Amino acid sequence: MRSTMQDFPLTVRSIVAHGVSVHGDHDARTVIAPGQVSRVTYAEIGARAARLAGALRRLGIVGDQRVATFQWSNQQHLEAYAAVPAMGAVLHTLNIRLAAEQVAYIANHAEDQVIIVDDSLIPLLAGALPKIDSVHTVLVNGDGDTSALEDAGKQILRYEEVLAAEPEEFDWPAVDERDAASMCYTSGTTGNPKGVVYSHRSLWLHSQAACTAQGFSINADDTILTIVPMFHANAWGLPYAALMSGANLLLPGPFLQAQTLVGTIDQERPTVSGAVPTIWNDILNHLRNNPGPDLSSLRLVLCGGSAVPRSLMEAFDKEFGVRILHAWGMTETSPLAAIARPPAGLDEEETMRFRVTQGRPIAGVDLRIVDDNGIELPADGKSIGELEVRGPWVTGGYYRDDDPEKFHDGWLRTGDIGRVDPLHYVTLTDRTKDVIKSGGEWISSVELENTIIGHPGVLQAAVIGVPDERWQERPLAVVVLRDGASVTAEELRTWLTGRVAKWWLPENWSFVDAVPLTATGKYDKKVLRRQHADQLLT
Ligand code: ADP
Repeated sequence: MRSTMQDFPLTVRSIVAHGVSVHGDHDARTVIAPGQVSRVTYAEIGARAARLAGALRRLGIVGDQRVATFQWSNQQHLEAYAAVPAMGAVLHTLNIRLAAEQVAYIANHAEDQVIIVDDSLIPLLAGALPKIDSVHTVLVNGDGDTSALEDAGKQILRYEEVLAAEPEEFDWPAVDERDAASMCYTSGTTGNPKGVVYSHRSLWLHSQAACTAQGFSINADDTILTIVPMFHANAWGLPYAALMSGANLLLPGPFLQAQTLVGTIDQERPTVSGAVPTIWNDILNHLRNNPGPDLSSLRLVLCGGSAVPRSLMEAFDKEFGVRILHAWGMTETSPLAAIARPPAGLDEEETMRFRVTQGRPIAGVDLRIVDDNGIELPADGKSIGELEVRGPWVTGGYYRDDDPEKFHDGWLRTGDIGRVDPLHYVTLTDRTKDVIKSGGEWISSVELENTIIGHPGVLQAAVIGVPDERWQERPLAVVVLRDGASVTAEELRTWLTGRVAKWWLPENWSFVDAVPLTATGKYDKKVLRRQHADQLLT
């Protein structure tokens, strides 16, 4: 029997139409200088998105052609989020932190036609643009100098001038919910970057999951500071979740340093924010040295992208009264897949035991771990294997890139290693490419890092494996100390003693000024291994 329900498509346009009408008086604020924001209502975003769609049509964008952004998180980026998928085209958010070669590879691979660029990013785009054959037009947001782009042989137009020439209405087409809406490339820490293509349906379902109480619990009373960039996994889905729920958005533009971020929080009073642990760690460090700014408006700090150390959560709890919520996901999973909301009725210490895990799957997402032969392992909190995931907002392939290795029996192989407990909480111990195998047993680099970071004198710690004649591999800890701290390797070994297994204690230590980060703000272990190649050979 078929249902009697209407077959109403789940589209980005329906999310945006809801936000700009029902919540038309709510707003998006963009930080345009430290201490200064520009404000636009969602109703105005709706009108400007119509103008942008009209302009893109006039520039020849038809069907599912790709429109790329090379933008900070700002109002104009939100306009592209609202306009491009809704007009039936595909929004491609380019990662501004990638090298020019990679940007060119990705844009050519996606066959981007138009790029919308922030004028402050022109010098970065200039290196890639001449190599991007598919692009015919660049829309420049701002009135900065465009001369660096001029030799690339593309049409260069000013974003505001192009929008001004269009009406505030657009004839939004009917769109199939299973069609492509947007795309994002993984940063390709191994091999070439791979394109993940989101559908209207997957974005809709993911946005709704983000809004639920078990997800990010976002509602119309919230103001969300999206520190996680809009070019990385759709800013964890927060912009669409905001339009769906009526939450206001606070977009930090290029002002992503700890000092300006805390100033923005103090002044604009967001209730929710999301960023990778390194950013929250920087903020913690900054506030310890420069107390004063008030973070108390934050009811929820979302944190993921790499494992959140317990010490960071405790510091935010105790020093600012701000709760960090740990989540796990990937570009391939839209990204929200698991969230570490502890079971009810536990005391502080037991609660923390669950908060430090990567969480349990949100409704719609299935997770499991498998052994080397792909056989499912029990959720007993002990068995360790590779995490696999499936669900309506999990990718089933990569764009124009067969990679059967990454898929298994309808599941995405995540490349993450961990265990699952009987309550379905996942604890990740490593990524497959970073595992350290010593004497045939795994040492968790993640657990070592998070325990070392717990030492009061340590700002950052990354652990990699180095070859060892006797044990095949041993851990090497690369450590950044806090300003003014003097801590020795021996002191850190003493700190670790009793906190991790004795045979895990690294013999090799390296004290550096900064740990190199990837384009998405994680420890770049590939670079670290290269930097410590000497040690690898001895
Ligand atoms: P990239 O690999 O391009 O940085 P992603 O942001 O998609 O792109 O990275 C996804 C990976 O990030 C996951 O496979 C996992 O290894 C890591 N990750 C994400 N969230 C967490 C978390 N909460 N704890 C540990 N690792 C995480």
